[in-house]
Amino acid sequence: MARYTGPVCKLCRREGVKLFLKAERCVTKCTLDRRPTPPGPQGTGRRRRPTEFALQWREKQKLRRAYGVLEAQFRRHFREAVRRSGSTGINILQILESRLDNIVYRAGFAGSRAQARQLVCHGHFALNGRKTDIPSALVGPGDVVSVREGSRQVEVVVQSLAGSSGRHTHAWLSVLPEAMSVRLNALPLRTEIDTLVTEQLVVEFYAR
Ligand code: SF4
Repeated sequence: MARYTGPVCKLCRREGVKLFLKAERCVTKCTLDRRPTPPGPQGTGRRRRPTEFALQWREKQKLRRAYGVLEAQFRRHFREAVRRSGSTGINILQILESRLDNIVYRAGFAGSRAQARQLVCHGHFALNGRKTDIPSALVGPGDVVSVREGSRQVEVVVQSLAGSSGRHTHAWLSVLPEAMSVRLNALPLRTEIDTLVTEQLVVEFYAR
């Protein structure tokens, strides 16, 4: 399945929640605030009473879209979540949160996860000192993600860091703006993950 390249605000409108896919604009001028209806010709976008399956599927789509993960990769993450001990629902959220592109976004090095993915793919980041250009690489407790020496002047990173001061504060991450690095202290607790999703419905979807 190819990556979605259409208007991303449509995805928020479809899910009925802010997925924060567009950097600063999501805070200052969100489309969903002006057009809260689902996409489609006017009148046909009416929300109908969803079936149980539709609810589970929508929740899975919402989570997948929020983190910008394709279906096949999402399934791989889900298999890993099942393999780990503890709650599968919380495990899948922790896995998504510990993806390298998400850490770059959460630390404020990028304005959105899509931007973070692009920066990672372009080789601007190192994981524990080693260049890593795989956005899905999982960062573990104690790992350090840093902007590579030659990428410290990249405008997007510099501007994102300047614009994000104080906004990207997460107890499970230690961001050092001067060193342009972030350390993952521990996997986040459910209460520390602000993604508006009912993860149990996602688990039920894959359990069908
Ligand atoms: Fe668009 Fe961001 Fe608002 Fe979603 S949260 S509708 S991506 S502006």
